[in-house]
Amino acid sequence: MVEITLHPVYSCKNCRNIVALRDDIISKDFVAKSGKGYMFSRGMNMAIGAKEDKQLISGYFSIAPIFCTQCDEEMGWTYIKAFDAPQKYKEGKYVFEMVKLLKEF
Ligand SMILES: [Zn+2]
Repeated sequence: MVEITLHPVYSCKNCRNIVALRDDIISKDFVAKSGKGYMFSRGMNMAIGAKEDKQLISGYFSIAPIFCTQCDEEMGWTYIKAFDAPQKYKEGKYVFEMVKLLKEF
């Protein structure tokens, strides 16, 4: 028996590098610079840029941009640290801008 797992994945729109799994989506309600953003519990094949402390709508965070390791496209951000307790669940999570993603099956 061969086990076949078909999980839809998201790839970089530029270069088709696999960057996230649909199973890892936590929220589809994020607002990113370019529009809609999805939050994932993890990202794959991403490089993390320099972090900066920023006041966002939901609180004060230390965030860092995330880049595709294959084509260097900036695809969203990751939360390094949340300064407000109710926002702690976002730490280590990735938000991808939907316009940068391609859904694959
Ligand atoms: Zn790419």
